[in-house]
Amino acid sequence: MPKCIFCRSTANGFTTREHILPESLGGGDWAILPGNLVCDECQNRFGSEIEQQALGDYPFSFFRTFLGIPTKKGKPPWFPSWEGVVRASLRPSIIGYDPSPPFEETTLTGKKTQMRLLAHPIKANMICRFLLKMGIEVVAADDPEAVFDQKYDASRHYALTGQKESSWWYLQCEDMAMASHYITQGVSFDEWANNVKLDVIVIEDNAEIFHLRLLYMDIFVPLEPRIRPQLEELKEPEYRLFVV
Ligand SMILES: [Zn+2]
Repeated sequence: MPKCIFCRSTANGFTTREHILPESLGGGDWAILPGNLVCDECQNRFGSEIEQQALGDYPFSFFRTFLGIPTKKGKPPWFPSWEGVVRASLRPSIIGYDPSPPFEETTLTGKKTQMRLLAHPIKANMICRFLLKMGIEVVAADDPEAVFDQKYDASRHYALTGQKESSWWYLQCEDMAMASHYITQGVSFDEWANNVKLDVIVIEDNAEIFHLRLLYMDIFVPLEPRIRPQLEELKEPEYRLFVV
């Protein structure tokens, strides 16, 4: 009997296909979770509540828009900022900008030649829950029995409900030279295939950390709350810690 890896229900329906990495981040057929692991109710909840907010927020909004990854429906992604709306053009090195009213005139007359974007999430907790969802699914894809181990209970519960006993965190590392390479040159098939990865890293004390690599960016989130960040070696601005 199928059992949901998030709510543990066996009674709900299991009819939908779940992408571990959403299509709007470049997740293709290779990123589909084997069936009967996530119930329809949880899938719907992640899709409508968490993924939608996480995908529209930094760093995923920047990733999608600057690299021009179409939405599920094939539309160019965009995100709002204080200075106006930034739009993907679906062509490398061309980005659209609709200035907000205070900047319209200065932009059109050429006085304003730069815009500043806040490279910071609005809802870091949604980013964290979205990462944990992917992490739990990677564990399940690898071992559909082991994922029910109680060591993952806190992360599955936090991912699904937003409730946690203690603070959580994720670590993000961006390579800006690589980012500008992809933005200006586009991304080849091989670059997609070699530089988009989801895996679970085991560090000391059997602590497991989910690692998402998206072309120019690495993000790490612990799958248990007992794991604390070790920052001695990691320096800003490349590495940024977000505590939620
Ligand atoms: Zn469920």
